[in-house]
Amino acid sequence: MHEMGIVVHLAKTLDQTAKEEGLTKIGSVTLQVGEVSGIVTDLFTDAWDYFKKKYPVLEESELILETIPAVTWCDSCKRTYETVKYGKEWPYCHPGETWLLRGNECIIKEIEAE
Ligand SMILES: [Zn+2]
Repeated sequence: MHEMGIVVHLAKTLDQTAKEEGLTKIGSVTLQVGEVSGIVTDLFTDAWDYFKKKYPVLEESELILETIPAVTWCDSCKRTYETVKYGKEWPYCHPGETWLLRGNECIIKEIEAE
């Protein structure tokens, strides 16, 4: 379970941030999750709901997940395309030199303190 590891890390980071900033309660956390990051949002939310109870500052916080669409770059034709739609097989030139431009990230976008 990949999600649990990220949630544990996220909760620790937020707990630390709250201490540094002197926050007593975090209301919501907005997380940007890449489309091909391998994170299953349902599992992630479940793990969060379970784990946040260990930290008083996070106890009532709500996790908001935003999806970042995945984009792949083709170096042969200098174009980008939707990763999920085409996979590694960019239909307009093959074999293309392709790599993932974005869509693999997991970033804290916003923290709302109460
Ligand atoms: Zn190409």
